[in-house]
Amino acid sequence: MRGAVLLGTGAAVGGFAARPAGAAVPTPTIASCATWGARPPSSPLTLISTNPDKILVHHTAGANSTDLSLAHAYAIARQIQDFHMDSNGWSDTGQHFTISRGGYVMEGRHNSLAKLSAGSGMVVGAHCPGQNDKAIGIENEGLYTTATPPAAMYTKLVDMCAYICQQYGIAPTQIYGHRDFIATLCPGDVLYGMLPQLRTDVATKLNGTPAWSTIIDNTSSSFRASANWGTSTFSAQRYGADYRYANPVAASDPAYYSATLPAAGNYKIETWYPANAGYNATTPYVVFASGGNQTVTVNQQANGGKWNTVGTFAFGSGARDVVAVSRWTSGAGYVIADAVRITRV
Ligand SMILES: [Zn+2]
Repeated sequence: MRGAVLLGTGAAVGGFAARPAGAAVPTPTIASCATWGARPPSSPLTLISTNPDKILVHHTAGANSTDLSLAHAYAIARQIQDFHMDSNGWSDTGQHFTISRGGYVMEGRHNSLAKLSAGSGMVVGAHCPGQNDKAIGIENEGLYTTATPPAAMYTKLVDMCAYICQQYGIAPTQIYGHRDFIATLCPGDVLYGMLPQLRTDVATKLNGTPAWSTIIDNTSSSFRASANWGTSTFSAQRYGADYRYANPVAASDPAYYSATLPAAGNYKIETWYPANAGYNATTPYVVFASGGNQTVTVNQQANGGKWNTVGTFAFGSGARDVVAVSRWTSGAGYVIADAVRITRV
C-alpha cells in the first residue's frame, strides 16, 4: 500500500453549495391559482417564516391522460382542489405545486408561488403528515407504478426542483418521494426509481457541473480487501447486507474502494460505517488524492449508520483507487470497512 501512515492529517471539508456562484436557474413558468381559476380557500391558510428544507415528489395516482393541453392542465388543478376541499375537507389544495403530463406547472395551495418567488417562508401544505411545514410538495399528474412519466413532465419537474432548491437554498440531495416519510405507494415505483437521476439532474442544473456520484459498498466489485478482513452483520447500522472488519496491525493490509472518475476535479468522500464502543476511534482513511496520499482519521465509535464526510479532495480522471481503510493504527478495536460515497463537487 502506498503511504500507510499512523497519524492522520486533517483535510478540507467540502459541502454542497446550494446557491451556486454561477448564473441563476431560470424561473419556470408557473400558472398561479388565479390563472387556472382556483376557488378561494375555505378557511385561512397558515403562513410560516421558516423555509422548507426538502422537496417531496408525489403522483396524483389519477389517469395517465393523453390530453397534454394547457386547458387540461388547468382542469386537473381544479379537479384536485375540488377533491381536496370537498372530499378531504381541507382548506385548499394540499400540495404546493402541480405538474401536468403535458409539462405545465401550476400553483397548488394559495401563496405557494408568492413565497417561492420571495425565497422566504412557506404556506403550510397538506400533502404528507409530519412534513407539511418542512417540505414543498409537488404533485405529478398520473400513476407511475408501472408507467414512465412523460419527458415533458419530467423536464419541468427538474426545472421546478432546481428553482425551488435555488430559492430556498435546499440541496438537491434533499429531494424525496412521499413514501420516504409515510407508508404509501406514492409516487409509484417508476417515478420513485427516477429520484436518484432527478437529484443528479437538479444538481447539474444548479451548479453547472455535471453531477456524478457513486456508492461503493463492501459487497461491490469496486471494493477489495484481503481474507484477513472478516464479514459481519452484527450491527444494524450497517450499509447494505454486511460489512468488513479487521483488527489493527502495523502492516499494510487496507480495504480499497476504487472508482472510475468522470473527469479531473474535486470529489467529496463520505463514509458509512456501523459505530460501536468496541470499534476503533482512530481508523485511518487513506485518500489517494492527486497531490499525494492524505490520511484522515475517523472515530468509528460514533456517528454510525449515516454518511460522514471524510473531506473533499482533487483527483485525476479515470479508473483508480480512491480511498482505503487502513488497519495501521495505534488505536484499539476493529477497524470497519462498510460503504463509501464519492460525489463530484
Ligand atoms: Zn403522495
